[in-house]
Amino acid sequence: MRAGGFVKRFVLPLFLPLTVVLFAAAAPDKAAPSGADDPARRFTLTPLADGVYAVLRDDRPGFMVDANNLLIINERDVVVVDANGAPSITKQVVAALKRLTDKPVRYVVNTHYHDDHIRGNQVWREAYPGVEFIAHAFAREYLPGQGAINRKAFLTAAPGFLEDLRGALKSGTGLTGAPLTAEERDSLQSDVSLAGLVLGEGDKAETVLPTITVRDRLTLERGARVIDILHLGSGHTAADLVVHLPKEGIVATGDLVVWPVPLVGDPQSHIAEWGKTLGRLRELHASILVPGHGPVLRDDTYVKTLEEMFTSIAAQAQEAVKSGATGDAARRKIDLQPYRQSLAGDSPVRRGLFQMYVAQPAVAAALREATEKPAAGASDPAAGSGAASAPGSSVAIAAVAVKSSTASAPSPAKAAADEVRATETAFAKTMAARDHAAFAAMLADETIFFGSTRVLRGKAAVSEGWARFFEGPDAPFAWGPERVEVLESGRLALSTGPVFDPAGHRTGTFNSIWRREDDGRWRIVFDNGCPPCAAAAGK
Ligand SMILES: [Zn+2]
Repeated sequence: MRAGGFVKRFVLPLFLPLTVVLFAAAAPDKAAPSGADDPARRFTLTPLADGVYAVLRDDRPGFMVDANNLLIINERDVVVVDANGAPSITKQVVAALKRLTDKPVRYVVNTHYHDDHIRGNQVWREAYPGVEFIAHAFAREYLPGQGAINRKAFLTAAPGFLEDLRGALKSGTGLTGAPLTAEERDSLQSDVSLAGLVLGEGDKAETVLPTITVRDRLTLERGARVIDILHLGSGHTAADLVVHLPKEGIVATGDLVVWPVPLVGDPQSHIAEWGKTLGRLRELHASILVPGHGPVLRDDTYVKTLEEMFTSIAAQAQEAVKSGATGDAARRKIDLQPYRQSLAGDSPVRRGLFQMYVAQPAVAAALREATEKPAAGASDPAAGSGAASAPGSSVAIAAVAVKSSTASAPSPAKAAADEVRATETAFAKTMAARDHAAFAAMLADETIFFGSTRVLRGKAAVSEGWARFFEGPDAPFAWGPERVEVLESGRLALSTGPVFDPAGHRTGTFNSIWRREDDGRWRIVFDNGCPPCAAAAGK
């Protein structure tokens, strides 16, 4: 029955025209590209120090973005930070590097495991067969399991998302019915061209796994160049790495820092820890920060804002939980207004992004963290071994969640749908993570699961009946939400989507009903799989 998450990150921004333009610095609001050009070539190469270049994607802020890169040319070789979200984009970055130097790339560092940062690994390997891939140990663990499930689910659902965006552009109206502003149109065009490119290359890119993993720190001494690869703590994911050049005062932050609005995923992101991790990032005292997405930052003002926001959301969530508030009441206690204003201002696009990437997932994650704190330290990356935790899904967001909210603040029903989608994704993660206890915790007391030969009634019966699927090291099947519908009351939801066998073949469809319970959490009350999945899943 069920299958993994949707979480993939669809975000990709692109930069302008193709030629490698040299800029001293990219100002956040500098003239923007049309979005109609070739998204594979939309980047600007920016020299930062001797032999150090940022490859900055220039895209309108939007739902689709691609990762920035850092190119570090050493005495004998090159170190690259992050690959990109589609092979054709990475090919252009390789070509840009080859125009700068004929030294070989020795290492590619993936700052975390999302597709817009790793999918181009294969292209680097083809261009430089001896290259090694460095990532956090948890990325190595995540990619072949939940990561593969999430990518598949993403590729299944994303075309619908793309159609929605195209439809909005064609009609000239957003999904709220209001006419598109120029900013929204730019953003959508950028999204559409980039999404078209990424989806056009579908699953062509094989996942190239890290060959060297890091848990805390790895230092590369390349001649006179010192390159520190650091896990400063969790934030965007439990596998976040930054790449620091102490002598040059440059740091590539990965998605710990994304401009103009941070990318938060629930359950993959860690809100309370994120603030602390950004504090450690500022302690590096770098004068140049290359964010995962967005322009080069020349001071830590923006990082400070993010640090304060995550710290505040976590503290407010703790307070809300302490006061006994749950569900909507708890959510209402968290005041985001100063941060919404500071990050999004009056821009409808940025406000939409803030709603999508902060208001919903950050608040949901923070409340969950605040509730779970005493019980489970397991997924708390603060415990040190980020690698041991298994944040299931995350930034599923962009692609799917966006489906119905082109750039405008989503409705409460839509917000609830995002929650259900995240919940379904987390539910699927329990199977991939072999976590039977977490699976059982998501069952309503009176839940009913229909199997092929029998019906399991009640939490205890389902928990026991499903225990066999959690035996052994490998998940017998996986699933992910494709479609989620929530009743206007926000209390009951249907979630349905594909079920996959371990080889990744679709074997059926699941249908689940989720109910929002008194504590504000969604729990599953009915589950019924289609006939084909019955054999594998017993349902
Ligand atoms: Zn990213």
